[in-house]
Amino acid sequence: MSLKEQIPATDNINIHIEDDRTGMTVETLKRAFIDNLYYIQGKNEFLATPYDYYVALAYTIRDRLLRRWIETTTTYIQQDVKSVYYLSAEFLMGRQLENNLLNLGLEEKIRQALSELGIDLGQLTILEAEPGLGNGGLGRLAACFLDSLATLEIPAVGYGIRYEFGIFDQRIENGVQVEHPDKWLRFGNPWEIRRPELTVDVLFGGHTEGHQDRHGHYRVRWVADRKVMGTPYDTPVPGYNHNTVNTLRLWRAGASEEFDFQVFNSGDYAGAVTDKISSENISKVLYPNDNTSQGKQLRLEQQYFFVSCSLQDIIRNYRRSHANFDVFPEKVAIQLNDTHPAIGVAELMRLLVDVHEVGWNRAWVITRACFAYTNHTLLSEALERWPVSLFERLLPRHLEIIYEINHRFLKEVRSRYPQDPQKAAQMSIIAELPEKSVCMAHLACVGSHAINGVAALHTELLKQDVLQDFYRFWPEKFNNKTNGVTPRRWLLLSNPRLCQLITSKIGKGWVTDLDQFRQLEAYADDPAFRQQWQEIKRACKQDLADYILLFNDVEVDLDSLFDVQVKRIHEYKRQLLMVLYIITLYNRIKRNPQIEIQPRTFIFAGKAAPGYYLAKLIIQLVNAIAPVINNDADVAGRLKVVFLAGYSVSLGQKVYPAAELSEQISTAGKEASGTGNMKFAMNGALTIGTLDGANIEIREEVGAENFFLFGLTAEQVYALKAEGYNPMTYFNENLELQEVIGRIAAGDFSHGDRETFKPLVNSLLDLDQYLLFADYQAYVDCQAQVDRAYRDRENWTRMSILNSARMGKFSSDRTIREYCKEIWKTRPLTIKVPDYDQGAVSLNVDPDTFNSQ
Ligand SMILES: *Cc1c(COP(=O)(O)O)cnc(C)c1O
Repeated sequence: MSLKEQIPATDNINIHIEDDRTGMTVETLKRAFIDNLYYIQGKNEFLATPYDYYVALAYTIRDRLLRRWIETTTTYIQQDVKSVYYLSAEFLMGRQLENNLLNLGLEEKIRQALSELGIDLGQLTILEAEPGLGNGGLGRLAACFLDSLATLEIPAVGYGIRYEFGIFDQRIENGVQVEHPDKWLRFGNPWEIRRPELTVDVLFGGHTEGHQDRHGHYRVRWVADRKVMGTPYDTPVPGYNHNTVNTLRLWRAGASEEFDFQVFNSGDYAGAVTDKISSENISKVLYPNDNTSQGKQLRLEQQYFFVSCSLQDIIRNYRRSHANFDVFPEKVAIQLNDTHPAIGVAELMRLLVDVHEVGWNRAWVITRACFAYTNHTLLSEALERWPVSLFERLLPRHLEIIYEINHRFLKEVRSRYPQDPQKAAQMSIIAELPEKSVCMAHLACVGSHAINGVAALHTELLKQDVLQDFYRFWPEKFNNKTNGVTPRRWLLLSNPRLCQLITSKIGKGWVTDLDQFRQLEAYADDPAFRQQWQEIKRACKQDLADYILLFNDVEVDLDSLFDVQVKRIHEYKRQLLMVLYIITLYNRIKRNPQIEIQPRTFIFAGKAAPGYYLAKLIIQLVNAIAPVINNDADVAGRLKVVFLAGYSVSLGQKVYPAAELSEQISTAGKEASGTGNMKFAMNGALTIGTLDGANIEIREEVGAENFFLFGLTAEQVYALKAEGYNPMTYFNENLELQEVIGRIAAGDFSHGDRETFKPLVNSLLDLDQYLLFADYQAYVDCQAQVDRAYRDRENWTRMSILNSARMGKFSSDRTIREYCKEIWKTRPLTIKVPDYDQGAVSLNVDPDTFNSQ
């Protein structure tokens, strides 16, 4: 039947809500899709745009999630389970439709249903605007964790901000990054459900007053001068192949009507409107900084806003089943994803002490038992410190509470170190220099029972360096949780061909137990398997090559080595080192055009923070060398350089499967973990990398012989800096390096203009903070090893298979199991859902409880 024949005639509407809304057969899915197109979008096939089809499909799938979602939420409340509350300023979820189909196991049926209607599923999924509510690794980690929590059947809620504008849309115009607003909500968002009845108030500003309560206790009242409303928007997070559907609850800021009304009555209409706008601003836009603290008032407002909303929500939920706070920590585990939500420590104390009248000491025990803190970076520019003056203006009561927490904490410190008065100053939550400010990492450490780094090296460096005082004070709080990524999105969804091959050999169990990938080792020496492996990599390269041709108008050679660095653009990640290497090869060709050289396609992608001048200049340099090298007759197509605009989860899903060489070349000791490194290796890329972050553990797992290692260790980096690093020492004795820098400085990539890239050149010659010169020769030598290895394609494929086979550890399922066991103390709970095709959801309202909710 064609779509047209199936559009319901208005006089013949057959309402089988139960069938159309929850049925799983191809026929029912078709019916539901057509109904949704008609009744939700108000379109038939003459009027419908492809986007209408996308929305109709999204609702068809959402309906099938709802039963499990409602059942999950109900079960959690009825069984009064312990839940994980993951507080994160960022969730970089990626597209929802494809993932939900996959996790529901509906992909094949939907594909068939649509194809019977003449629609190609793949053409609809790409119409979804990606919710880019994160900058990079930290936000993506939160998304992988939600997927694993649901798949492991752990009761959990992700709490964050519903930014109206996510990470900016990056375009490359005349070779430079230009930021455009990310209007992801322009056409609505079928995945979220707004819950206005759960709106909460968030206060700002004003002053505090002391008073005696009715029991004669001294209490503090916060008289705020601004009130903002937070309204939750819920998105379902289904587990893979389970009934569990957890919730991502994002808060949107709105004006408080009462306050508007007051101003309105006083005749200041414009003022009322201004107030409304300023309230809405709080959730307007994601700050586009990665690993850097911006220090803006609005950012602190965002943090407090979503944390206060979330904690009020957690308490409200808890109070449904409990009259007091005695067992609060037995029901509530709150994870702080970096210090962005660390104000939660003071806010929970305020809510317990001021609002719920719990005594300070008990409140403190409860607070500490609930919170745990994940540190994500060793970079000093990322450490969040808020001026006390700002705190005083914005959150006067919280500042008092922080002073009290600090006072009690420093008393302990002084009694532990009576001989060392300096210790209290070093560990204080209040830093005195350069400006009196609140150190959020210290607040998070003091207020949490567990503190973790995100890779073994990172945790060690926290203990020895950044947080060493806290480690000595509370060694038992410190633990490592090496990051992971979800195999559902990063294998099953992004690399279906490879997954089909793998499943044909070892079965499907690996999807929820990635350790089973080890069984692939047995096929590493199987010529037929190797050939299939190679063919799949080539097919993925072809897909990416098509994309590159379409968007960059560059033709790339499928026989060339796809050498990829995709991640945020940051000096410490050293995209510039890869550029120096590319120019080195270019120089070799220019010197001797006949030289034998391994053809390579160098692929870059990544956004730079809009205010990060040197990072943007690195993007400009990549885009400047690309046309020169790509069109040089001597190069003759052997080297190609491509910068893909708009790096995102969706683009990552195309890039990781096609990569053969993964560039993980940060200065040792700077990358906390990295997760891109894991996605690459799972998809069969070999890594060239430093001993940094999770690279170390990846190398341990895949074997040193299957990993291209180069560069200084973290220890050597510190030693070199301590003895006084001078980049010129390396520069003066390296002719190839001089030639490379000489070319950039001479304007060979900027039409003879010597000014454009001068700041980059000078940053290297003057300081070279990230030791590019010190690692340059080792990197170039290591790349030569890569070339040699690539020439033996059979052995390369073998290494590629072994890389995938040994990545089991880096499933986020493993990471989440460790968090559950060692930090959160939570257990899985299987959700039972009454048979889907059993008929309509029934309603059996108890009149006694009807009004009590
Ligand atoms: C995985 C991922 C990252 C993190 O990449 P790193 O290489 O670990 O910095 C950043 N952005 C997106 C879109 C990702 O998917």
